[in-house]
Amino acid sequence: MKKLQDRIRQDGVALNDRVLKVDSFLNHQVDSALTMEIGQAFAAEFKDERVTKVLTIEASGIHFALATGAALGVPFIYAKKKKAVTLTEDLYTTSVHSFTRGETFTVSVSKRYLSAEDRVLIVDDFLATGDALLGLQEIVRQSGAHLVGIGAVVEKSFQEGRGKLEATGVRIHSLARIQSMSPEHIEFLEEEAVVSK
Ligand code: 5GP
Repeated sequence: MKKLQDRIRQDGVALNDRVLKVDSFLNHQVDSALTMEIGQAFAAEFKDERVTKVLTIEASGIHFALATGAALGVPFIYAKKKKAVTLTEDLYTTSVHSFTRGETFTVSVSKRYLSAEDRVLIVDDFLATGDALLGLQEIVRQSGAHLVGIGAVVEKSFQEGRGKLEATGVRIHSLARIQSMSPEHIEFLEEEAVVSK
């Protein structure tokens, strides 16, 4: 998505060669119009998949899931993060390690909102190590729902996440794929080279 790449070049701040700050337009202050376009881009990519639910993880995936759900005309669900969950019988749960916080969370979704009849599109803000998205994939697996694909707003292609997800056979669509970055420069993989399976 050219517009997103341009905005990352303009307003994204690579703190080093691994962490990209995008909190002026994607995950603290949020550009509402750009977020809606991101939702439309995911919806267009997966329009033939008869998606019934969009799934994300709190907090920074929520607005992208809202925009995607609105574009597809379906509800979205956000998995909740807790340090520990005591009562789990009504929940699908798994643990996820946070790349940015260096902590492990229990992530859960109520069994009321996801079932074997659902066709799920997972979206999140970043694909980095892939742990958050693998956790969401595990929640979908527990529910018996069909996973139609994964949408990532920003993919740091130099990290291991895409490879780990591809190994599961899932279709991945990332709107901006960063090949490499430094405080001086952000290099994207060419759009033409972005072949979604
Ligand atoms: P994962 O490593 O599991 O793929 O990414 C987990 C979460 O860490 C993402 O959803 C995102 O919220 C956060 N994250 C990972 N890398 C970055 C980054 O470079 N910048 C920012 N702002 N968040 C990141």
